[in-house]
This record gives sequence, C-alpha cells and structure tokens, in this order.
Amino acid sequence: MLDLPQKTLQTIRKYLLRQKSEVEKNLKEVVEDDPATTPALAESSEPGTDSWVADAHNRALVFRDQLKKRGDSIKKALGKIRKGTYGKCERCGQRIELSRLLAMPTAQYCLSCSKKFSK
Ligand SMILES: [Zn+2]
Repeated sequence: MLDLPQKTLQTIRKYLLRQKSEVEKNLKEVVEDDPATTPALAESSEPGTDSWVADAHNRALVFRDQLKKRGDSIKKALGKIRKGTYGKCERCGQRIELSRLLAMPTAQYCLSCSKKFSK
C-alpha cells in the first residue's frame, strides 16, 4: 500500500481544503465581477461600452473555466485521500514522488508518466 505518512497526508489534505475554499470564493467573485451578469450595467451600456462588456465577460468565462478545472482536480484529490488511493499514479499505479505531491498536491501521475504524457 501507499505509505504516505499520516501527518503528511493531513498536511496535504488541509492545504487542499484551503485551496478548495479559495477557488470557490474566487468563482463567486468572478461571477459577481462579470459585467454581463450585472443587469444594471448591461442595460445602461452606452455605445462603445458593449465591446468592453463583452471583453470583460469573455475574460470572466475563461477565468471561471480555469477555476472550475482547478476545483475539480482538488475535489478529485480530496476524494482519493478519503478512499486511501491518494498519491498513486493513475497511469502506472506506482507511487507519485512525495516531492512532486508536495509541489503539486493535485498531481494525478508520477513524474515519468507525466513526462511521457506531455510529449
Ligand atoms: Zn506513473
């Protein structure tokens, strides 16, 4: 089995939970800051502000997508901690290097698999 020290696992879990609430907070802010979701602003838009609203809206959508993806990988990692499969490479089943997990707690693959993947 994976022999990640309980203490390390708890540290990672806490970190992930913090990240999760951070992402959720950011997601909320992105939606609130999106001018397209502010009816007053959208209605009162004068000529020339349309493109600004559209621009800001597009940026908000891109940002929201990134945050959602990030949130998903955090939830996935937390689920694996619960199931006790955290730290296992999803490709080769080997243990992911601890230094890698500490640097990137949502890592799904070990270093060599992710290298093979990105090629
Ligand atoms: Zn692997």
